[in-house]
Amino acid sequence: MYDVIIIGSGPAGLTAAIYTTRANLKTLVIAGGKWGGQLMLTTLVENYPGFPEGIDGPVLMENMKKQAEKHGAEILYQDFKKGDFSKAPFKIVTGEGEFEAKAVIIATGADTKWLDVPGEKEKIGRGVSSCAPCDAPFFRNKKVIVVGGGDSAMEEALVLTKFATSITLIHRGDSFRASEIMQKRVKEESKIKILFNTEIKEIMGENNVTGVRLFNNKTNKEEEMAIEGVFVAVGHIPNSKVFEGIDRDERGFIRVHDHYKTNIDGVFVAGDVHDAEYKQAVTAAGFGSAAALEAERWLENR
Ligand code: NDP
Repeated sequence: MYDVIIIGSGPAGLTAAIYTTRANLKTLVIAGGKWGGQLMLTTLVENYPGFPEGIDGPVLMENMKKQAEKHGAEILYQDFKKGDFSKAPFKIVTGEGEFEAKAVIIATGADTKWLDVPGEKEKIGRGVSSCAPCDAPFFRNKKVIVVGGGDSAMEEALVLTKFATSITLIHRGDSFRASEIMQKRVKEESKIKILFNTEIKEIMGENNVTGVRLFNNKTNKEEEMAIEGVFVAVGHIPNSKVFEGIDRDERGFIRVHDHYKTNIDGVFVAGDVHDAEYKQAVTAAGFGSAAALEAERWLENR
C-alpha cells in the first residue's frame, strides 16, 4: 500500500514525487514505458530557472528523476492501464501489476496533436514527424515544411535550419501566436520561408513523403509543393482519456476543483493534463509541487 501513487513522470510528476517523498510519504511513480514527458523530445531549454546557460531537456529530466529517487520515490517503467477511483484505497493497474494507494496524483501530460489529413498517419516516421530535435538529422540537405504558429513550430523550424536546405513554415492564420523572441529568431533566419493563411490538405507519396497539397484559405487556391519532410507542431492533446470517472472539460483537460483536486476525493492533478493555459516545464513543476502539498494535507487530515 502506497501513500501516494503518481501517474506520469514529466516535470509535474517528478516534482510531485520530490515533495511527497520529502514529506515521508511512501510514493510510487508510474513513469510509463517512455518516461520523462515532452522535455525528452527537446534540446536546449532556456527558460527553466536556475540554468543561465540553458539545460538540455533530457538532462533536466534525468536530474529530476535522480532527485526523486534520492528521496525514496520508487519509479516503475510501465504504462498506466486503468484505475479504480470509486473508493479509497484506489487501485492502479499497469501492464504488469496492480497497486494500491491512499491518494493519487495524475500528471500524465499531453501528446502530439496531428493534422488528421490524408497521407499523414501512415507516413509518421517516413517523412512525417512531430519532433525536430529527434528527427532533423534525417533531413540533411532536404526540403521540409513545418506546420503551426506557436512556439513549438518556431523551435522546430529553427532546429531544422542546421540540417535541411530549406524550411517552409506554414500557418493557417495571418499571424503567429508564438512569443516575440521566437518569431524574431525565425524571421531573421534566411533558410526559413513563411506562408500565412496556408493549410495542408494532403501529404503525398507512395512510401515516403514526396509532396504536399496546400490550400490558401484567403484566395481559396490550391497548389502542390514537392517536399521531403513534414513537421507537425500544432499543439498537444491532454492524456486524460484513460481516467474513467475523472471529470474532464470538452477539450479533454482534467477539471480542477479547488487547489488541484479532481472530482474524486483523494485524487489530485498536476501539469499539462489539466493546464490548457501555460504548458511550461516550470509551471508543470509548480503544479506538481502544489498537488503534492495538497495530497499531503489531505492525508494528514484523515
Ligand atoms: P500552441 O497551442 O501555442 O500553438 C499551436 C499552433 O498550431 C497555433 O498556431 C494553432 O493555430 C496551430 N494549430 C492548431 N491546430 C491546428 C490544425 N489542426 N491545423 C493547423 N494548425 C493548427 O502550441 P505549442 O505546442 O506551439 O506551444 C504550447 C505551449 O508551450 C505554449 O505555451 C508555448 O509558449 C510553449 N512552448 C515554449 C517554447 C519555448 O519557450 N522555447 C517551445 C515550445 C513550446 P492558431 O494560432 O490559428 O490557433
